[in-house]
Amino acid sequence: MQTADSLKQYKDELRESLDNEFLRAALDAFAKAYPAGRQRAFADYDFRALVAEGAVIKDAAAKKMDELYEQFKTEAEKRGVVVHMAKTADEANEIIARIAKEGGVKRVIKSKSMTAEETHLNVRLEKDNLEVVETDLGEWIIQLRHEGPSHMVMPAIHLSRHQVKDLFSDVTKQPQEADIGKLVKVARSQLRRKFVEADMGITGANFAVAESGTLGIVTNEGNARMVSTLPRIHVALVGLDKLISSSDDAIKLLRVLPKNATGQAITSYVTWISGATPMTIPGYPTKEIHIVFLDNGRRALAEDPLFSTILRCVRCGACANVCPVYRLVGGHKLGHVYIGAIGLLLTYFFHGKDKAKNLVQNCIACGACKDICAGGIDLPRLIKDIHARIQEEEGRPLQSRLLGQVLSNRKLFHTLLRSAKAAQKPISADAGYLRHLPLIFSSKHNFRALPTIAEKPFRDRFPAIKPSTKPGGLKVAIFAGCAQDFIYPEQLEAAVAFLDKSGVNVEFPVDQSCCGLPVAMMGEKDAAKKVALQNVKAFNPDDYDYILTLCASCASHLTHGYKNILAGDPALITRLDAFTRKVVDFSTFINDVLETRTEDVVQQAPVKAAYHAPCHLCRELGVRQAPRDLLAKAGLDYVPTTEEEVCCGFGGSFSMKFPELSKELLNNKLNAAEEAGAEILVTDCPGCVLQLRGGAHKQGRKIQVKHISEILGKK
Ligand code: SF4
Ligand code: SF4
Repeated sequence: MQTADSLKQYKDELRESLDNEFLRAALDAFAKAYPAGRQRAFADYDFRALVAEGAVIKDAAAKKMDELYEQFKTEAEKRGVVVHMAKTADEANEIIARIAKEGGVKRVIKSKSMTAEETHLNVRLEKDNLEVVETDLGEWIIQLRHEGPSHMVMPAIHLSRHQVKDLFSDVTKQPQEADIGKLVKVARSQLRRKFVEADMGITGANFAVAESGTLGIVTNEGNARMVSTLPRIHVALVGLDKLISSSDDAIKLLRVLPKNATGQAITSYVTWISGATPMTIPGYPTKEIHIVFLDNGRRALAEDPLFSTILRCVRCGACANVCPVYRLVGGHKLGHVYIGAIGLLLTYFFHGKDKAKNLVQNCIACGACKDICAGGIDLPRLIKDIHARIQEEEGRPLQSRLLGQVLSNRKLFHTLLRSAKAAQKPISADAGYLRHLPLIFSSKHNFRALPTIAEKPFRDRFPAIKPSTKPGGLKVAIFAGCAQDFIYPEQLEAAVAFLDKSGVNVEFPVDQSCCGLPVAMMGEKDAAKKVALQNVKAFNPDDYDYILTLCASCASHLTHGYKNILAGDPALITRLDAFTRKVVDFSTFINDVLETRTEDVVQQAPVKAAYHAPCHLCRELGVRQAPRDLLAKAGLDYVPTTEEEVCCGFGGSFSMKFPELSKELLNNKLNAAEEAGAEILVTDCPGCVLQLRGGAHKQGRKIQVKHISEILGKK
């Protein structure tokens, strides 16, 4: 559970995870194994269609949450169930404590419930001297260790069998073996007695079906079925977001949940509870069932035009499974109670901005969570928006405000870059890198060499290389982005040469500026809007067939980002629409628009080449095949790698804020390329080039890092 007061303290705590070798190995192994299992589970299904269907179901349910609650209550009470409503976490805990007191309860067993974690229910019940025992194996283990879950589905994933062996040896006062099968038997023998002796069982629920007042509970261990059936009292604590209209809807959501969570076609147990049943316990002829619905901000969320999509979450945990940051630091550092991408958001809404303010900064915006989310939630965007909201509430940091002011003034920004070129001279080395870091950087940033600013930016070079006009040729305007304009102009020059020989007319509108992604990432909403406007005005879409960029992040931000940032400005709708439709990335343009053939391209030496897929290109823009095709057309021997679509760790301001995480991601990427035997690592984003090339240079690695424009020569 993350509770750091300051960003500095949070960063210090991240170090503990980075140094935890078992945690790193366990999460790494899981991150590598999970995609294959999931792919198999969805082999016969259209994942996107299932997600879209689920989103419709959940959005409709969120819109009529109160109505569904009333319907559920009526139906459940017809079947002998008592239904309660709690506005807050404390209220839910008090209701459950009262039920326990009135029922003469002494012993409570529980099955896994994130909602009960959210309210800290165990702490409240233990205040009344109740014995509360978790019965999910992972939850029992972490309860014995007095810690929270580190994953929403696998709560003890951070622990080794040796740690569990020691724990169980303490609990049983007998030496145990570090054998998973034997440890499970120990847990079973310890917990069986608790099931039989308990007076009350507490569960959560995955679905609350309004048409019949039915609860649906999805588990793998069967403990929830015993928790809900053996004790004389069953209490279910259920978030209002679990309400859905019908059992048909529940079945549709069930098609996605287990497959996305663990790669299983279906979990071992799916339990449906519809009403109180007769019992054979003397003195208790009928089961006592209470269902406590928890609001705790969910109703307000349902009304929120932007954040209501959060309520689509089915708690599959997949957003943590694929998160490169989670993979490095684990759930105790990437969540307060809820974990992973959704945890960053829910922490703000359920536990407040103080608990969320550090967490929301620890997102590299790689989009892996959005790509896999069972609810189709645009998690990175919402995380960014929460960050911006917290910055507004707390006062924006000086550094962030300054960057916002500079980037939103193109002339000032470019003047500063030109001045920096002169200032860097004393610390520049020959190979295009700074000899040592400027003083504003700490030693933690020294994991990669930083490139120098180019002698002459692309915007000053373009007039001399501008291709002559070719009547009838496509008209393309180049959007340079700051990295290629001022650091890697040679990448753009190579592209211009290719375009020229391909018969394309090329323009460079000089009023363009940075795309604005860095300030959007820092939560500087006004600055991000100003920069977006500047660029949309700089390019008249009627003048060009395409707006071409060699930067994957710019391409994604110019399209998806601008649509969000400039939404709601009626004067801009037509121009913005035309602008975003014309933006195209370099690989797609060369491969798919120009239909460049192998015989058109100068052949490289046939060395092994790995590809690094920039996050914004492969996930945000869905461009996957074109760059790989171009590698082959250039004559390189393309070798797939295990980490091909995993973030390289750059993430703009992320690598400045969390250099130690950035370094680990960089190393994973370079290691994977080298293990595949690659001599060249090709990518199509200058930010990724900066990270990977600088890292390889700093570490003296032999592998060369190139932008795809640098391996493509037109015959
Ligand atoms: S965008 Fe990437 S880094 Fe951010 S939460 Fe999602 S998976 Fe993690
Ligand atoms: S946000 Fe999406 S991926 Fe994450 S737990 Fe919820 S449904 Fe699953």
